Formats: sequence, structure tokens, C-alpha cells
Amino acid sequence: MTQDELFKVLVAHCKEYGFIFPSSEIYDGLAAVYDYGQMGVELKNNIKQYWWNAMTRLNENIVGIDSCIFMHPRIWEASGHVGAFNDPLIDNKDSKKRYRADVLIEDFLGKIEEKMNKEVEKGRKRFGEAFNEEQFRATNPNVLREKAKYDEVHGRYKKAEEANDLAEYRQIIIDNNIVCPISGTCNWTDVRQFNLMFSTSMGSTAEGASTIYLRPETAQGIFVNYLNVQKTGRMKIPFGIAQIGKAFRNEIVARQFIFRMREFEQMEMQFFIKPGTELEWFKKWKEQRMKWHVNLGMGAENYRFHDHEKLAHYANAATDIEFQFPFGFKELEGIHSRTNWDLGRHQQYSGRKIEYFDPEEGAAYTPYVVETSIGVDRMVLAVLSHSFKEEKLENGENRVVLSIPAPLAPVKAAVLPLVKKDGLPELAQKVMDELKFDFNCQYEEKDSIGKRYRRQDAIGTPFCITVDHQSLEDGCVTVRERDTMAQERVKIEDLRALIDSKVNLNNLLRNL
Ligand code: ATP
Repeated sequence: MTQDELFKVLVAHCKEYGFIFPSSEIYDGLAAVYDYGQMGVELKNNIKQYWWNAMTRLNENIVGIDSCIFMHPRIWEASGHVGAFNDPLIDNKDSKKRYRADVLIEDFLGKIEEKMNKEVEKGRKRFGEAFNEEQFRATNPNVLREKAKYDEVHGRYKKAEEANDLAEYRQIIIDNNIVCPISGTCNWTDVRQFNLMFSTSMGSTAEGASTIYLRPETAQGIFVNYLNVQKTGRMKIPFGIAQIGKAFRNEIVARQFIFRMREFEQMEMQFFIKPGTELEWFKKWKEQRMKWHVNLGMGAENYRFHDHEKLAHYANAATDIEFQFPFGFKELEGIHSRTNWDLGRHQQYSGRKIEYFDPEEGAAYTPYVVETSIGVDRMVLAVLSHSFKEEKLENGENRVVLSIPAPLAPVKAAVLPLVKKDGLPELAQKVMDELKFDFNCQYEEKDSIGKRYRRQDAIGTPFCITVDHQSLEDGCVTVRERDTMAQERVKIEDLRALIDSKVNLNNLLRNL
């Protein structure tokens, strides 16, 4: 199965098993908006808890807040979003489809890179042991031809980006014959800037109403509460404020399931520091955040840093943590050193002094900020796409299993009476009543035990507990582990400790 097909199967699986539904489906859906179902919400909550506890419990100097989606409109002027939170959009006149011009060019560059890598792999196969990649890249005519093309387009693109030259974006697309994947034509409109913020109005009468925005990021809610938290929490620099909440962006291209949504959720942490220490903290948070990801056991090779070449004017260092999604390595989290730009701008726009008196320095300053910003939904997609497996079993049957890291699994244990009679449901219900206080459990008595195992595999339940006739005599049950499918007999009173040892979130947190 190609990665593309696998992705389609995953999207269908998410719907079939109650993880993610298209929003407003009975009205044919709403583009790039998705709802989480009964399984999805549990997975999402577990991810949020892993992040929240890692931030606010493991760091005594990080506290959380929950600020509102609606904020004073001036905030978005101060933050630069009203003026510059734009994407360059372009339409294909034949298909009437809309694209981001920068993404069209980046995808084109990605394809050239892919071609070069394919040539290199061919060379590796041909030369075997003696293969020298560096030399091959420097001398192979096919690679050199592609490289020259790459450098030319990349150079033009970066210049156009720097100069915000929209006409040049279009010219690059035309010159390289970048076509619309739907119509296959190069019949493009001009490139226009498109502001990504959603606006609405607040106030009861049309005259008295003012335009306000749905926040496009949660960070500004933290910046404008900096003084409140610092003072009331008696926080000393360095300290951080964490927040999880919804953000909204009117994304131009929204065709990648929950990777790019118009309504999504972010987990952001702004860390306030002394000016001059930002690069040290930036490095620390890069390491810390990568550790948080790798700790989930989804393979260190599936993550990489992508340091930004072009920095926003207020940033002096920025990197993305990219994850290997089914459609390639893509941004999962951003880590940015934002200097004192945001607090400085709010000081200027609000007229309020936003400073910290540093007792050690005996002086006041506007703190610098290092932020970490991750999309909850992208994290859900990372977990689901990595966990989804179609396996061929020894007995020739197929099974679909979600090998979700156990502490994040929506359901931790399923309690299954072997048959619906002879007192087994009653005993199973007793087991359930015992476990439900500690774990999210499911009780299921319908269908054969094999079918029930498959259903639990498909939602990623780490343990299936089967109550059989012998259980009535010896007080033991069969515990089946999801990934290995190994079964063991366990005393009912030992179940809690056994499950806990695998699914307790604290086990993950202790390794950080
Ligand atoms: P991209 O380049 O992919 O549009 P971005 O650089 O604009 O992302 P940031 O503004 O740094 O993203 O936002 C921080 C995080 O929020 C991202 O790393 C991503 O996980 C998440 N995020 C941003 N936009 C979306 C979206 N439209 N849907 C889902 N998650 C998003």
C-alpha cells in the first residue's frame, strides 16, 4: 500500500471507530473542520494531560492559565496579526481550486529533492560497499542537473519571500510550469495576500458593534496576562506560563485531514527570561521538547529539527520539530526565541508598563521569551498514523491494531465475559466496577471473544480481560496484551497493579 492509500485507510478507520468525524457530516461536512468522537476525545485528553503535567507539574516555575478566545482587537494590531498574518494565495482558473503559492513552490522543490535522492539510491545499489555519497552528489550529471535547478528556484523563491514580491511568486510558478494537480493546467490568477484571521462582531447593535477576531494563536492570551500572573503568583524570572486552547485560522488549503484545520487546538508555553540568556534557554527547550516526544516510544528516527533559515523580524532563533507523517516530514511543533518583541509591543499599544524588576540585577527590564508551540490535533495525527498497523497473523488472518503508547490509549482495559450466562457477566461486572475508578474501561459481552479482541485492537486497548468459567472457581482471569497478543492468567486482585504498571501516565513523566 502506498503512503497515500494508507492515509486514506487511516482516515476511514478514524471515522469507523469513533475517533474523528467530519464536522456537520449530515449536512455534507464543513471544510477543514473535524469533530472528535468517543475514542478521539479520550486520546486527545490524554495527550493534553501528558503535556500539561510535563509543563506545570515537572517544572515548579511553570504555571498554567486559561484565557479567552475573544480578546481586545488592539491585541492583534500589537501582535502584528492584523497587518501581516497573511498567506499568498493563487487560484487556478480552470479547476477554480485555490492554493498557497508558497506551498506550490515548496512542493515543487520537494519533488526535485526527491529526484536527487532517488538518483543517489540508484547509485548506492549499483556501487554497493564502495559507494561514496558525497562524491556521487558532487559528480553525477543527473544529480548536478537537478541540483542546479533546485538552487535556481530556491534562490528566486527566498528572494521573493524576503521582498514579499507576489508577482515573482507567480512568475516562478509559470516559469517552472507548476500545474494545478486537478486541472493539470498552468492557467493561474495573480497571487494575493490573504489574512488568515476570522472576524466577527461584538455588541448588540450594528452601529455599536466592533469587529473582533477569533484568536489565531493562544500565545497572545499569555502575553497580555504576563503582569497578572507574575504579580499574583509572585513569579521570579525565569518562569513560564502554559496554556491549552482553541485557535482559528482561515487556512487557504485545507485538504490534509486534521493536519491543517480551520479550528484547532494549541498547547503553548511562553518562558520569560533575562535578556541575553535566550539562546541558552532556546537550546534547553529544544532538548526538553524533543525528549518529551521521543519518550513516547514512537521512534527517535521519526522526528527531526528543521531550523528556520528565514527568521521573523522579532525572532533570533527558531526551529520546528518535524514528524514523519504518512505524507512526509512535516511540522509538529515550533520552538521560537521571540526576544521582547511581544511584551514590548503590548507595552507600546496598551500604554501599560510591562517590566520585571530583577532583584539580583537591581534593575528592571522587559523580559525575553522562548516559546514552545504544538498543535494538539497534529499530535493526535502523529500518534494515530504511527500506531496504525495492518498485520498478517500466523493463522493467516488479518488484524488492524492501533499500537498507541499505552498511557495515551483511549480505553485501557476491556472486560469481557466469555459467554453471556452462567454468572460470568456478573463476575465481569464486578471486575469492571473495581477497575473503573482507576482506568477508562469498556465492558463488552456481544459477539465471539475473537471478534471482541479485534474491536479492542482496532481502538488500541492495551489489555483485554476475559472472565471464563474457571474464573468462578480460582478467581483468576485471562489477560491478553494488545501488541504481542500474549495471554496470561492473573488473579483478579492483581489486575489493578498490572494495568497500572503499563498505562500510568506518571511512568512516562518519570522518564523526562
Ligand atoms: P504551518 O507552517 O504548518 O502552517 P505554522 O508555522 O503556521 O504551521 P505556528 O503558527 O508555529 O504554525 O503554530 C504552532 C503549531 O500549531 C504548529 O506547529 C502546529 O502544530 C499547530 N498548527 C498551526 N496551524 C494549524 C492548523 N491549521 N491546524 C492544525 N494545527 C495547526
